[in-house]
Amino acid sequence: MAGDYAGIRENRPDTLTFTDWGGESRQAEEQYGKKCLARADRTFSQGLQCQQINSVMALLSMEDSAFVVHSPLGCSGCCSMANDWFRVGQAHRGSFPLRNARIIVTNLDEKDIIHGGEEKLREALRLAKSRYNPKLIFIFLSCASGIIGDDVDGIAAELQGELSPAIIVPVHCEGFKSKICASGYDASFLAIHKHILKDAPRGETVPGLLNLFAPPTVSFVDQMEIERILGEIGITVNYIPFYSSLEKIRRIPSAQGSTAICKVFADEFMKDLKERYGIPYSHTIMPIGTRNTDKWLLGAAAIMGKTEEARAYIAKQQELYLSLVADLRRRLEGKRAVICGGTGRSFAGAALINDFGMRLVGMTTPIYDDDVQLDVQYLNDLYGNFTVDIGNMMPFEQVNMLHKLKPDIFIGVPIWAARLGIPTTHVLDIKRPTLGYRNLVYLGNKIAFQLENPGYNKKIAKYGTLPYKQSWYDDNPFKFIREI
Ligand code: SF4
Repeated sequence: MAGDYAGIRENRPDTLTFTDWGGESRQAEEQYGKKCLARADRTFSQGLQCQQINSVMALLSMEDSAFVVHSPLGCSGCCSMANDWFRVGQAHRGSFPLRNARIIVTNLDEKDIIHGGEEKLREALRLAKSRYNPKLIFIFLSCASGIIGDDVDGIAAELQGELSPAIIVPVHCEGFKSKICASGYDASFLAIHKHILKDAPRGETVPGLLNLFAPPTVSFVDQMEIERILGEIGITVNYIPFYSSLEKIRRIPSAQGSTAICKVFADEFMKDLKERYGIPYSHTIMPIGTRNTDKWLLGAAAIMGKTEEARAYIAKQQELYLSLVADLRRRLEGKRAVICGGTGRSFAGAALINDFGMRLVGMTTPIYDDDVQLDVQYLNDLYGNFTVDIGNMMPFEQVNMLHKLKPDIFIGVPIWAARLGIPTTHVLDIKRPTLGYRNLVYLGNKIAFQLENPGYNKKIAKYGTLPYKQSWYDDNPFKFIREI
């Protein structure tokens, strides 16, 4: 990919990236700005999302593909979640009868860890070909196959002729390589670059065609809304890689421009496309809420030569949605929120709630880098100081933070906040609307509905207990983060 980037987000050459920190937002902004945000690690950590999950999720819905997970059985547990999303996506797209993704797990065991799992991998690849006859066979690596040193690339090269015309694509998403799960997305795009696009020429540019890179968490209704908005200003979309195909991947070099729906999805790949093919790209914010959608659309329009069309369209949308947002504002004004999600959705959601007159009092983000710094500066100007937790799935810190901040609503994965009796909803909903102009109203109503109907979570808090003692709630939520 761009430069020497090897798919590990902590090591990107052009930005400092932090994964462990907690404190006030102004302090984060100031220290990062002076390049003195301390390198730190957690001495106690509850869980990390493995990057293999992100690679699997990104590619599992490729319609002409089969997948070999080269790992112990446990690592492939995430495939059942990704498969559920795949089935829901098919149902929303009217693609019946529903089918499961074509997954084969090599099921590495103790013997393989000692003697190697290469023979099992060969067997699985041949089985994938004979059973499914796919155009693409992706191999997902794991900690185990990485640590024992199976020569996965060598086996892919060795069997390529035999299994042709299927293309074998090893994805180096060994979980131990990165604490940032979005590295798994990068591993997928590195693999697409290396094994599918290879030295494909730029070809003839298709005017008005935009590569739209979308993470698997985008619902079909959101995909339609984004494609509708772009269509309004004369842009057509090559939607990748969710529900895409080998043919769509091969169209990538002929697009006029590229953009992504999420800020941490395909950003490095788009830089690579710019370097290799001169394809311009836009990297702004996630299109959640009017102001973010305006910004996102203007970014995409600028590289496609459609700025005037976008401005005219945005002016009409503002007229259309102003009264609806005002109505939501009456219901949400002054409510205090904590937001917890992936980097893209957290920051877009945090800006959105300002449209509703709400106040941000805390948020979590898996990483802090140059992009996040810009977002935090923006939010500091909007809200003043708020609590920031940089971490990947740390529920013990989250409950402590929520106990102290006592927000009116928690926007994020609700499991822990609900057990504190706090109304909850989320912006990461793969099954319902979130993005663009039309879906803003759905999202606002969802927040308002939860605030006006808190009974369910109150009952959960009354009858369920969390495993923490009062002493933990009295303590510093970030006490296990130590400078290194
Ligand atoms: S690849 Fe590694 S981190 Fe990921 S699930 Fe398997 S053992 Fe865990």
